[in-house]
Amino acid sequence: MATGRMNQLVVMVNLCSSVVEGIEHLITSQGNDRLKEDAVSGLLTLEENLKVLQADKTVIHETRWMAEVIKNWLFVYDREFRDRLYRWYFTALKELRNLMFAEIEICPVCSGKGAVHYGASLYMEGDEAGKELLKPVRIFMKCGECGNYYLAKEEPWIIKRKKRAERSRARCSRILADIKGLASDGSMLFIGSQNSQLYKEAASAGYEISSLIESEAMNSGKKGSYGVVIIEHLTDSRDMNAILDKAADCLADGGILWFDGPDLDKSMDLLEKKGSVLWREAASEVYLTREGTKNLAKLFGLTVKSLKRVGTTRGRIEVIAKKA
Ligand SMILES: [Zn+2]
Repeated sequence: MATGRMNQLVVMVNLCSSVVEGIEHLITSQGNDRLKEDAVSGLLTLEENLKVLQADKTVIHETRWMAEVIKNWLFVYDREFRDRLYRWYFTALKELRNLMFAEIEICPVCSGKGAVHYGASLYMEGDEAGKELLKPVRIFMKCGECGNYYLAKEEPWIIKRKKRAERSRARCSRILADIKGLASDGSMLFIGSQNSQLYKEAASAGYEISSLIESEAMNSGKKGSYGVVIIEHLTDSRDMNAILDKAADCLADGGILWFDGPDLDKSMDLLEKKGSVLWREAASEVYLTREGTKNLAKLFGLTVKSLKRVGTTRGRIEVIAKKA
């Protein structure tokens, strides 16, 4: 999952490796001042970052120690020094891995704690070299608190990023009919693109629509007055939480919120029953479940009024939730 903290951790893993490589060089070309400076500054950068990330104190201390010893030429190039170097390297990597895991455990929907749901494998029949590959391409986590799934790891090389498919006109008019059955008045906030089919359908259904794109919605001070709020595409990043909060805020009492999200269980059913692979499609960062959707709505003071699992090839869960 691409968070700033995770990116920082990946950078640090790489820095650790290059620092060790640099020190190995330094050992073979004794007395090279430039190599020495590089090693010291690399170690100090690591130390600084480890502090910011609140890493284990022993690791921070060891990193500082390595920097001081190299800076002051307090070491001899012997076996003992090498051992200490590799020991430092492995503890640092282990600590970074722990920090990464802690980061992955945080659910992007509710900030609860997730656990690995399953490691999925892709068996690709023959790449260019004619070799068969067996490699986990995606790992999903299931949140213990809200019950939804989220993507923890993905091998980016295998997936063809496709443009998001537009909803069909028939689906949009069916969605509007669902909304009409539960809406109490005709004022609507549409969060999404005015070029979308869903917007066009909402407009022709006669709603009095205010529309905002997602980033505007996040920054606007709008509060509770709409009978209907539609989120055209619920973002699957960590902002999901924020946009739902905002949408719930914009609802009048008794107003309804419509949103949908990808349904991993449906895709797994298809994989089991028909062998359809989902791996070649781009994955979302968050997948909803039936129970998870109800918990999610509850987080924002809403009650689920309608929950539909739709789609034959790629499943989605459509939700209409009401503000009490
Ligand atoms: Zn959660």
